[in-house]
Amino acid sequence: MRTRTVAVVGGGCAGVLATRELLRCSDDRVVMIEPDEPGGGLAYGSARPWHLLNSRAGAMSADPDDPGHFARWADVSPESFAPRSVYGSYLRDVFHRAAAGGGDRLSVVRDRAVRVGSTRIYTEKSGQIAVDEVVVATGNPAAAQPVTVAGHPDYIADPWRPGALEAIPADAPVLLVGAGLTAVDVVLTLTADGNRDAPITAVSRRGQLPLTHVSSPAPVTDLSLAEPRTLRDLVRRVRTAAAEAGDWRAVVDGLRPSIDRLWGNLTAAEQEAFLRHLARPWECHRHRMAPSVGARVATLREEGRLEVRSGGIRAITAPPAGGLLVELEAGVQWFGAVVNCAGPGRLPAAAGSFARSLLADGHARLGPHGLGLDIDADGRLVGADGTVREHLWLIGPLRRGARWETTAVPEIRTQARALIDRLGYSSQLGHMATI
Ligand SMILES: Cc1cc2nc3c(=O)[nH]c(=O)nc-3n(C[C@H](O)[C@H](O)[C@H](O)COP(=O)(O)OP(=O)(O)OC[C@H]3O[C@@H](n4cnc5c(N)ncnc54)[C@H](O)[C@@H]3O)c2cc1C
Repeated sequence: MRTRTVAVVGGGCAGVLATRELLRCSDDRVVMIEPDEPGGGLAYGSARPWHLLNSRAGAMSADPDDPGHFARWADVSPESFAPRSVYGSYLRDVFHRAAAGGGDRLSVVRDRAVRVGSTRIYTEKSGQIAVDEVVVATGNPAAAQPVTVAGHPDYIADPWRPGALEAIPADAPVLLVGAGLTAVDVVLTLTADGNRDAPITAVSRRGQLPLTHVSSPAPVTDLSLAEPRTLRDLVRRVRTAAAEAGDWRAVVDGLRPSIDRLWGNLTAAEQEAFLRHLARPWECHRHRMAPSVGARVATLREEGRLEVRSGGIRAITAPPAGGLLVELEAGVQWFGAVVNCAGPGRLPAAAGSFARSLLADGHARLGPHGLGLDIDADGRLVGADGTVREHLWLIGPLRRGARWETTAVPEIRTQARALIDRLGYSSQLGHMATI
Protein backbone atom coordinates (compact mmCIF):
# COMPACT_ATOMS: atom_id res chain seq x y z
CA MET A 1 0.00 0.00 0.00
CA ARG A 2 1.28 3.50 -0.91
CA THR A 3 2.36 5.63 2.05
CA ARG A 4 -0.34 8.15 2.82
CA THR A 5 -0.48 11.28 4.92
CA VAL A 6 -3.23 11.32 7.52
CA ALA A 7 -4.05 14.62 9.21
CA VAL A 8 -5.49 14.41 12.71
CA VAL A 9 -7.22 17.69 13.51
CA GLY A 10 -7.26 18.13 17.28
CA GLY A 11 -4.80 16.70 19.78
CA GLY A 12 -7.09 16.16 22.76
CA CYS A 13 -8.06 12.72 24.00
CA ALA A 14 -9.54 11.50 20.69
CA GLY A 15 -6.71 12.94 18.58
CA VAL A 16 -4.07 11.27 20.76
CA LEU A 17 -5.82 7.90 20.69
CA ALA A 18 -6.27 8.09 16.90
CA THR A 19 -2.62 9.12 16.38
CA ARG A 20 -1.43 6.28 18.56
CA GLU A 21 -3.40 3.75 16.52
CA LEU A 22 -2.22 5.21 13.21
CA LEU A 23 1.44 5.21 14.18
CA ARG A 24 1.34 1.74 15.65
CA CYS A 25 -0.15 -0.14 12.76
CA SER A 26 0.69 1.61 9.52
CA ASP A 27 3.69 3.01 7.70
CA ASP A 28 1.80 6.19 6.94
CA ARG A 29 2.70 9.69 7.94
CA VAL A 30 0.57 11.43 10.54
CA VAL A 31 0.27 15.19 10.84
CA MET A 32 -1.38 16.26 14.07
CA ILE A 33 -2.74 19.80 13.95
CA GLU A 34 -3.33 21.16 17.45
CA PRO A 35 -2.72 24.66 18.81
CA ASP A 36 -1.86 23.47 22.34
CA GLU A 37 0.21 20.66 23.77
CA PRO A 38 -1.18 17.30 22.56
CA GLY A 39 -2.92 15.35 25.30
CA GLY A 40 -4.65 18.37 26.81
CA GLY A 41 -8.21 19.06 25.73
CA LEU A 42 -11.23 20.18 27.70
CA ALA A 43 -11.54 17.33 30.19
CA TYR A 44 -7.95 16.60 31.15
CA GLY A 45 -5.88 19.58 30.02
CA SER A 46 -6.64 22.07 32.78
CA ALA A 47 -8.27 19.91 35.48
CA ARG A 48 -7.46 20.95 39.03
CA PRO A 49 -6.24 18.46 41.67
CA TRP A 50 -9.75 18.07 43.17
CA HIS A 51 -11.32 17.13 39.83
CA LEU A 52 -11.58 13.34 39.70
CA LEU A 53 -12.43 11.07 36.81
CA ASN A 54 -16.06 10.07 36.86
CA SER A 55 -15.07 6.58 35.67
CA ARG A 56 -13.02 3.95 37.46
CA ALA A 57 -9.37 3.75 36.48
CA GLY A 58 -10.01 0.29 35.07
CA ALA A 59 -12.22 1.80 32.35
CA MET A 60 -9.75 4.45 31.17
CA SER A 61 -6.98 2.60 29.32
CA ALA A 62 -5.87 4.08 26.00
CA ASP A 63 -5.43 0.56 24.68
CA PRO A 64 -8.55 -1.46 23.80
CA ASP A 65 -6.46 -4.65 24.11
CA ASP A 66 -5.15 -3.87 27.59
CA PRO A 67 -7.92 -2.53 29.87
CA GLY A 68 -5.61 -2.33 32.89
CA HIS A 69 -3.00 -0.12 31.22
CA PHE A 70 -3.98 3.21 32.81
CA ALA A 71 -4.42 1.76 36.31
CA ARG A 72 -0.96 0.15 36.11
CA TRP A 73 0.58 3.31 34.68
CA ALA A 74 -0.88 5.44 37.49
CA ASP A 75 -0.22 2.71 40.07
CA VAL A 76 -3.79 2.85 41.35
CA SER A 77 -6.50 0.27 41.90
CA PRO A 78 -8.67 -0.34 38.80
CA GLU A 79 -11.64 0.38 41.09
CA SER A 80 -10.38 3.84 42.09
CA PHE A 81 -11.24 7.28 40.72
CA ALA A 82 -7.99 9.01 39.83
CA PRO A 83 -7.53 12.78 39.42
CA ARG A 84 -8.28 13.96 35.87
CA SER A 85 -4.93 15.79 35.83
CA VAL A 86 -3.22 12.40 36.27
CA TYR A 87 -5.17 11.13 33.31
CA GLY A 88 -3.95 14.18 31.35
CA SER A 89 -0.35 13.21 32.19
CA TYR A 90 -1.13 9.67 31.07
CA LEU A 91 -2.48 10.86 27.71
CA ARG A 92 0.62 12.99 27.18
CA ASP A 93 2.81 10.00 28.01
CA VAL A 94 0.82 7.78 25.64
CA PHE A 95 1.32 10.42 22.97
CA HIS A 96 5.08 10.75 23.56
CA ARG A 97 5.57 6.98 23.44
CA ALA A 98 3.54 6.68 20.25
CA ALA A 99 5.51 9.59 18.75
CA ALA A 100 8.82 7.98 19.71
CA GLY A 101 7.69 4.70 18.12
CA GLY A 102 6.55 6.52 14.97
CA GLY A 103 9.87 8.36 14.52
CA ASP A 104 9.82 10.89 11.71
CA ARG A 105 6.43 9.69 10.48
CA LEU A 106 4.75 12.06 12.95
CA SER A 107 4.77 15.82 12.71
CA VAL A 108 2.90 18.10 15.06
CA VAL A 109 1.73 21.43 13.69
CA ARG A 110 0.99 23.77 16.60
CA ASP A 111 -1.78 25.65 14.84
CA ARG A 112 -5.52 25.65 14.21
CA ALA A 113 -6.94 24.00 11.11
CA VAL A 114 -9.32 26.35 9.36
CA ARG A 115 -10.67 24.40 6.39
CA VAL A 116 -10.27 21.38 4.17
CA GLY A 117 -9.76 21.43 0.41
CA SER A 118 -9.86 18.36 -1.85
CA THR A 119 -6.31 17.23 -1.07
CA ARG A 120 -5.14 19.82 1.45
CA ILE A 121 -5.85 21.18 4.84
CA TYR A 122 -5.44 24.89 5.52
CA THR A 123 -4.22 26.21 8.84
CA GLU A 124 -4.38 29.62 10.46
CA LYS A 125 -0.66 30.43 10.43
CA SER A 126 1.27 27.53 8.87
CA GLY A 127 -0.33 27.60 5.42
CA GLN A 128 -1.53 24.44 3.67
CA ILE A 129 -0.61 20.81 4.14
CA ALA A 130 -1.11 18.10 1.49
CA VAL A 131 -3.07 15.21 2.98
CA ASP A 132 -4.76 12.01 1.84
CA GLU A 133 -7.05 11.43 4.82
CA VAL A 134 -8.38 13.74 7.52
CA VAL A 135 -9.53 12.65 10.99
CA VAL A 136 -11.64 15.33 12.67
CA ALA A 137 -11.16 15.17 16.46
CA THR A 138 -12.00 18.71 17.56
CA GLY A 139 -14.00 17.79 20.67
CA ASN A 140 -17.31 18.96 22.08
CA PRO A 141 -19.52 21.68 20.63
CA ALA A 142 -19.43 24.90 22.64
CA ALA A 143 -21.55 25.04 25.79
CA ALA A 144 -25.18 26.04 25.42
CA GLN A 145 -25.93 29.54 26.69
CA PRO A 146 -29.33 29.30 28.40
CA VAL A 147 -29.06 32.89 29.61
CA THR A 148 -26.85 35.50 28.10
CA VAL A 149 -25.62 38.67 29.66
CA ALA A 150 -23.12 39.20 26.90
CA GLY A 151 -19.92 40.84 28.01
CA HIS A 152 -20.96 41.46 31.64
CA PRO A 153 -17.92 40.94 33.88
CA ASP A 154 -19.95 39.02 36.48
CA TYR A 155 -21.39 36.57 33.95
CA ILE A 156 -18.97 33.71 33.29
CA ALA A 157 -19.99 32.16 30.00
CA ASP A 158 -17.14 29.61 30.04
CA PRO A 159 -16.09 28.24 33.43
CA TRP A 160 -13.19 26.35 31.78
CA ARG A 161 -11.47 29.57 30.70
CA PRO A 162 -8.24 29.74 32.74
CA GLY A 163 -8.69 32.03 35.74
CA ALA A 164 -12.45 32.47 35.18
CA LEU A 165 -13.46 31.22 38.64
CA GLU A 166 -10.51 32.56 40.62
CA ALA A 167 -11.76 36.11 40.03
CA ILE A 168 -14.99 35.47 41.98
CA PRO A 169 -14.76 36.93 45.52
CA ALA A 170 -15.32 34.42 48.35
CA ASP A 171 -18.03 36.65 49.87
CA ALA A 172 -20.09 36.89 46.66
CA PRO A 173 -23.11 34.57 46.36
CA VAL A 174 -22.80 32.60 43.13
CA LEU A 175 -25.48 31.22 40.84
CA LEU A 176 -24.64 28.20 38.69
CA VAL A 177 -26.84 27.77 35.64
CA GLY A 178 -27.02 23.98 35.37
CA ALA A 179 -26.58 21.20 37.91
CA GLY A 180 -24.61 18.58 35.99
CA LEU A 181 -20.99 17.47 36.22
CA THR A 182 -19.72 20.89 35.11
CA ALA A 183 -21.59 22.51 38.01
CA VAL A 184 -20.05 19.95 40.38
CA ASP A 185 -16.57 20.79 39.05
CA VAL A 186 -17.25 24.49 39.60
CA VAL A 187 -18.53 23.90 43.16
CA LEU A 188 -15.36 21.96 44.00
CA THR A 189 -13.16 24.76 42.65
CA LEU A 190 -15.09 27.55 44.40
CA THR A 191 -14.91 25.75 47.75
CA ALA A 192 -11.44 24.19 47.42
CA ASP A 193 -9.55 26.61 49.67
CA GLY A 194 -12.23 26.58 52.40
CA ASN A 195 -12.44 30.40 52.40
CA ARG A 196 -15.80 30.77 50.69
CA ASP A 197 -18.41 32.07 53.12
CA ALA A 198 -21.12 33.04 50.64
CA PRO A 199 -23.52 30.37 49.35
CA ILE A 200 -23.62 28.73 45.96
CA THR A 201 -26.97 28.10 44.28
CA ALA A 202 -27.30 25.73 41.35
CA VAL A 203 -30.46 25.97 39.29
CA SER A 204 -31.62 23.64 36.56
CA ARG A 205 -34.93 22.65 35.05
CA ARG A 206 -35.15 19.51 37.21
CA GLY A 207 -32.82 20.46 40.05
CA GLN A 208 -31.18 17.08 39.72
CA LEU A 209 -27.49 16.56 40.47
CA PRO A 210 -25.58 13.63 38.98
CA LEU A 211 -25.89 10.49 41.09
CA THR A 212 -22.94 8.86 42.77
CA HIS A 213 -20.90 5.73 42.08
CA VAL A 214 -20.76 3.21 44.90
CA SER A 215 -17.46 1.87 46.17
CA SER A 216 -18.41 -1.76 45.60
CA PRO A 217 -20.54 -1.95 42.46
CA ALA A 218 -22.93 -4.81 41.78
CA PRO A 219 -22.01 -6.99 38.79
CA VAL A 220 -23.23 -5.48 35.53
CA THR A 221 -26.61 -6.84 34.41
CA ASP A 222 -26.67 -8.06 30.84
CA LEU A 223 -30.10 -6.82 29.88
CA SER A 224 -31.44 -8.59 26.82
CA LEU A 225 -33.27 -5.77 25.11
CA ALA A 226 -33.60 -7.54 21.81
CA GLU A 227 -36.12 -5.35 20.06
CA PRO A 228 -38.04 -2.90 22.22
CA ARG A 229 -40.74 -1.54 19.96
CA THR A 230 -41.02 2.02 21.20
CA LEU A 231 -39.32 4.47 23.54
CA ARG A 232 -42.10 3.86 26.05
CA ASP A 233 -41.50 0.10 25.83
CA LEU A 234 -37.77 0.62 26.29
CA VAL A 235 -38.19 2.82 29.36
CA ARG A 236 -40.64 0.37 30.92
CA ARG A 237 -38.26 -2.55 30.45
CA VAL A 238 -35.30 -0.65 31.86
CA ARG A 239 -37.31 0.47 34.91
CA THR A 240 -38.50 -3.07 35.59
CA ALA A 241 -34.98 -4.47 35.24
CA ALA A 242 -33.56 -1.77 37.52
CA ALA A 243 -36.16 -2.52 40.21
CA GLU A 244 -35.42 -6.25 39.98
CA ALA A 245 -31.63 -5.84 39.96
CA GLY A 246 -31.54 -4.17 43.38
CA ASP A 247 -28.87 -1.70 42.19
CA TRP A 248 -29.96 0.34 39.16
CA ARG A 249 -26.29 1.05 38.38
CA ALA A 250 -25.86 -2.56 37.27
CA VAL A 251 -28.60 -2.09 34.68
CA VAL A 252 -27.47 1.36 33.49
CA ASP A 253 -23.90 0.10 33.00
CA GLY A 254 -25.10 -3.10 31.38
CA LEU A 255 -27.03 -1.10 28.78
CA ARG A 256 -23.96 0.76 27.59
CA PRO A 257 -22.92 -1.57 24.73
CA SER A 258 -26.50 -1.53 23.38
CA ILE A 259 -27.16 2.19 23.65
CA ASP A 260 -26.15 3.17 20.10
CA ARG A 261 -28.33 0.43 18.63
CA LEU A 262 -31.28 1.39 20.85
CA TRP A 263 -30.86 5.08 20.01
CA GLY A 264 -30.61 4.30 16.29
CA ASN A 265 -33.81 2.23 16.42
CA LEU A 266 -35.88 5.12 17.82
CA THR A 267 -37.83 7.29 15.41
CA ALA A 268 -36.75 10.93 15.06
CA ALA A 269 -39.79 11.97 17.13
CA GLU A 270 -38.92 9.47 19.87
CA GLN A 271 -35.31 10.69 19.91
CA GLU A 272 -36.56 14.26 20.29
CA ALA A 273 -38.91 13.15 23.11
CA PHE A 274 -35.98 11.40 24.78
CA LEU A 275 -33.90 14.59 24.52
CA ARG A 276 -36.73 16.67 25.99
CA HIS A 277 -37.81 14.44 28.86
CA LEU A 278 -35.31 11.67 29.53
CA ALA A 279 -31.82 12.72 28.46
CA ARG A 280 -31.10 14.67 31.64
CA PRO A 281 -32.28 11.94 34.07
CA TRP A 282 -30.42 9.38 31.97
CA GLU A 283 -27.20 11.41 32.12
CA CYS A 284 -27.59 11.77 35.92
CA HIS A 285 -27.66 7.99 36.22
CA ARG A 286 -25.11 7.25 33.52
CA HIS A 287 -22.36 9.86 34.23
CA ARG A 288 -21.94 9.61 37.98
CA MET A 289 -19.76 11.40 40.52
CA ALA A 290 -16.88 9.58 42.18
CA PRO A 291 -17.90 8.50 45.71
CA SER A 292 -15.63 11.04 47.43
CA VAL A 293 -16.96 13.85 45.22
CA GLY A 294 -20.53 12.80 45.97
CA ALA A 295 -19.74 12.84 49.70
CA ARG A 296 -18.19 16.32 49.46
CA VAL A 297 -21.22 17.67 47.59
CA ALA A 298 -23.58 16.12 50.14
CA THR A 299 -21.64 17.80 52.98
CA LEU A 300 -21.78 21.18 51.28
CA ARG A 301 -25.54 20.81 50.89
CA GLU A 302 -26.00 19.75 54.53
CA GLU A 303 -23.99 22.77 55.67
CA GLY A 304 -26.16 25.07 53.55
CA ARG A 305 -23.20 26.15 51.44
CA LEU A 306 -24.69 24.64 48.30
CA GLU A 307 -28.34 24.78 47.37
CA VAL A 308 -29.79 23.01 44.34
CA ARG A 309 -33.08 24.36 42.96
CA SER A 310 -35.36 23.30 40.15
CA GLY A 311 -36.87 25.75 37.71
CA GLY A 312 -35.87 28.28 35.14
CA ILE A 313 -34.40 31.74 35.03
CA ARG A 314 -37.11 34.24 34.11
CA ALA A 315 -34.97 37.34 33.73
CA ILE A 316 -31.53 38.61 34.47
CA THR A 317 -30.51 42.24 34.75
CA ALA A 318 -27.36 44.15 35.63
CA PRO A 319 -27.77 46.69 38.48
CA PRO A 320 -25.38 49.68 38.37
CA ALA A 321 -23.67 48.63 41.63
CA GLY A 322 -22.40 45.36 40.09
CA GLY A 323 -23.35 41.72 40.22
CA LEU A 324 -26.51 40.43 38.59
CA LEU A 325 -30.18 40.42 39.62
CA VAL A 326 -31.74 37.12 38.68
CA GLU A 327 -35.45 36.37 38.66
CA LEU A 328 -35.78 32.75 39.74
CA GLU A 329 -39.09 31.01 40.38
CA ALA A 330 -38.81 31.85 44.09
CA GLY A 331 -38.27 35.56 43.39
CA VAL A 332 -35.54 38.03 42.50
CA GLN A 333 -32.12 37.46 44.05
CA TRP A 334 -28.75 39.19 43.77
CA PHE A 335 -25.62 37.22 42.87
CA GLY A 336 -22.07 38.45 42.71
CA ALA A 337 -21.42 36.08 39.81
CA VAL A 338 -23.45 33.87 37.49
CA VAL A 339 -21.59 30.90 36.00
CA ASN A 340 -22.83 29.07 32.94
CA CYS A 341 -22.58 25.32 33.64
CA ALA A 342 -24.76 24.13 30.77
CA GLY A 343 -23.69 21.15 28.71
CA PRO A 344 -22.83 21.23 25.01
CA GLY A 345 -25.16 23.28 22.83
CA ARG A 346 -26.70 22.28 19.51
CA LEU A 347 -25.18 22.92 16.12
CA PRO A 348 -24.91 25.01 14.05
CA ALA A 349 -24.86 27.72 16.76
CA ALA A 350 -22.52 25.71 19.04
CA ALA A 351 -20.20 24.45 16.27
CA GLY A 352 -16.52 25.18 16.75
CA SER A 353 -14.75 27.06 13.98
CA PHE A 354 -13.53 23.93 12.17
CA ALA A 355 -16.93 22.18 12.23
CA ARG A 356 -18.46 25.46 11.05
CA SER A 357 -16.12 25.56 8.06
CA LEU A 358 -16.89 21.91 7.22
CA LEU A 359 -20.59 22.81 7.24
CA ALA A 360 -20.09 26.02 5.24
CA ASP A 361 -18.02 24.22 2.57
CA GLY A 362 -20.56 21.39 2.27
CA HIS A 363 -18.13 18.74 3.56
CA ALA A 364 -20.47 18.04 6.45
CA ARG A 365 -24.12 18.34 7.34
CA LEU A 366 -25.82 18.45 10.70
CA GLY A 367 -26.45 15.12 12.34
CA PRO A 368 -29.77 14.27 13.99
CA HIS A 369 -31.13 17.06 16.23
CA GLY A 370 -28.05 19.22 15.67
CA LEU A 371 -26.18 17.36 18.41
CA GLY A 372 -23.22 16.77 16.10
CA LEU A 373 -22.30 16.06 12.48
CA ASP A 374 -23.74 13.35 10.30
CA ILE A 375 -21.63 10.25 9.59
CA ASP A 376 -22.00 6.97 7.74
CA ALA A 377 -21.76 3.56 9.42
CA ASP A 378 -17.93 3.70 9.25
CA GLY A 379 -17.56 7.17 10.78
CA ARG A 380 -17.02 9.16 7.55
CA LEU A 381 -18.65 12.56 7.26
CA VAL A 382 -21.74 12.91 5.12
CA GLY A 383 -21.67 16.09 3.06
CA ALA A 384 -24.39 18.67 2.47
CA ASP A 385 -25.42 16.85 -0.73
CA GLY A 386 -25.92 13.58 1.16
CA THR A 387 -22.84 11.84 -0.26
CA VAL A 388 -20.23 10.26 1.98
CA ARG A 389 -16.88 12.09 2.07
CA GLU A 390 -14.54 9.14 1.49
CA HIS A 391 -11.49 10.70 3.13
CA LEU A 392 -13.02 12.72 6.00
CA TRP A 393 -13.40 10.81 9.25
CA LEU A 394 -14.99 11.95 12.51
CA ILE A 395 -14.33 10.66 16.01
CA GLY A 396 -15.40 11.79 19.47
CA PRO A 397 -18.23 13.93 20.82
CA LEU A 398 -19.26 15.40 17.44
CA ARG A 399 -20.66 11.97 16.54
CA ARG A 400 -23.46 12.64 19.06
CA GLY A 401 -26.84 12.39 17.42
CA ALA A 402 -25.71 9.94 14.76
CA ARG A 403 -24.64 7.87 17.79
CA TRP A 404 -25.45 8.36 21.48
CA GLU A 405 -22.51 6.94 23.45
CA THR A 406 -19.59 8.75 21.91
CA THR A 407 -17.99 11.00 24.50
CA ALA A 408 -16.27 8.74 27.02
CA VAL A 409 -12.84 7.11 26.71
CA PRO A 410 -14.01 3.50 26.14
CA GLU A 411 -16.07 4.59 23.14
CA ILE A 412 -13.39 6.94 21.79
CA ARG A 413 -10.63 4.32 21.93
CA THR A 414 -12.94 1.87 20.15
CA GLN A 415 -13.60 4.48 17.46
CA ALA A 416 -9.87 5.10 17.08
CA ARG A 417 -9.23 1.38 16.64
CA ALA A 418 -12.11 1.02 14.17
CA LEU A 419 -10.59 3.82 12.13
CA ILE A 420 -7.54 1.68 11.49
CA ASP A 421 -9.72 -1.08 10.22
CA ARG A 422 -11.69 1.25 7.93
CA LEU A 423 -8.52 2.82 6.56
CA GLY A 424 -7.41 -0.64 5.51
CA TYR A 425 -4.65 -1.18 8.05
CA SER A 426 -6.17 -4.11 9.91
CA SER A 427 -3.90 -6.63 8.13
CA GLN A 428 -0.96 -4.95 9.85
CA LEU A 429 -2.42 -5.14 13.37
CA GLY A 430 -0.36 -8.23 14.14
CA HIS A 431 2.85 -6.20 13.80
CA MET A 432 1.96 -3.60 16.38
CA ALA A 433 4.20 -2.92 19.32
CA THR A 434 2.59 -2.32 22.69
CA ILE A 435 2.58 1.12 24.31
C1 LIG B 1 -15.10 17.83 32.39
C2 LIG B 1 -15.13 16.50 31.71
C3 LIG B 1 -14.83 15.34 32.42
C4 LIG B 1 -14.83 14.10 31.79
N1 LIG B 1 -14.56 12.99 32.51
C5 LIG B 1 -14.55 11.79 31.90
C6 LIG B 1 -14.25 10.59 32.61
O1 LIG B 1 -14.02 10.61 33.81
N2 LIG B 1 -14.25 9.41 31.93
C7 LIG B 1 -14.52 9.34 30.60
O2 LIG B 1 -14.47 8.25 30.02
N3 LIG B 1 -14.82 10.46 29.90
C8 LIG B 1 -14.84 11.66 30.51
N4 LIG B 1 -15.14 12.79 29.80
C9 LIG B 1 -15.48 12.66 28.37
C10 LIG B 1 -14.30 12.52 27.40
O3 LIG B 1 -13.16 11.90 27.86
C11 LIG B 1 -13.98 13.82 26.72
O4 LIG B 1 -15.12 14.39 26.17
C12 LIG B 1 -12.88 13.61 25.69
O5 LIG B 1 -11.81 14.26 26.25
C13 LIG B 1 -13.17 14.10 24.29
O6 LIG B 1 -11.96 14.12 23.60
P1 LIG B 1 -11.78 15.00 22.30
O7 LIG B 1 -10.38 14.79 21.85
O8 LIG B 1 -12.87 14.72 21.36
O9 LIG B 1 -11.98 16.50 22.80
P2 LIG B 1 -10.91 17.37 23.59
O10 LIG B 1 -10.16 16.53 24.53
O11 LIG B 1 -11.62 18.57 24.10
O12 LIG B 1 -9.89 17.82 22.46
C14 LIG B 1 -10.26 18.59 21.32
C15 LIG B 1 -8.98 19.22 20.83
O13 LIG B 1 -9.23 19.78 19.53
C16 LIG B 1 -8.46 20.96 19.43
N5 LIG B 1 -9.06 21.77 18.36
C17 LIG B 1 -10.29 22.34 18.34
N6 LIG B 1 -10.45 23.01 17.19
C18 LIG B 1 -9.31 22.85 16.47
C19 LIG B 1 -8.88 23.32 15.19
N7 LIG B 1 -9.64 24.09 14.42
N8 LIG B 1 -7.63 22.96 14.77
C20 LIG B 1 -6.82 22.19 15.55
N9 LIG B 1 -7.20 21.73 16.78
C21 LIG B 1 -8.43 22.06 17.22
C22 LIG B 1 -8.54 21.59 20.81
O14 LIG B 1 -7.46 22.49 21.02
C23 LIG B 1 -8.47 20.36 21.71
O15 LIG B 1 -7.16 20.08 22.13
C24 LIG B 1 -15.15 14.03 30.41
C25 LIG B 1 -15.44 15.20 29.70
C26 LIG B 1 -15.43 16.42 30.33
C27 LIG B 1 -15.75 17.65 29.54
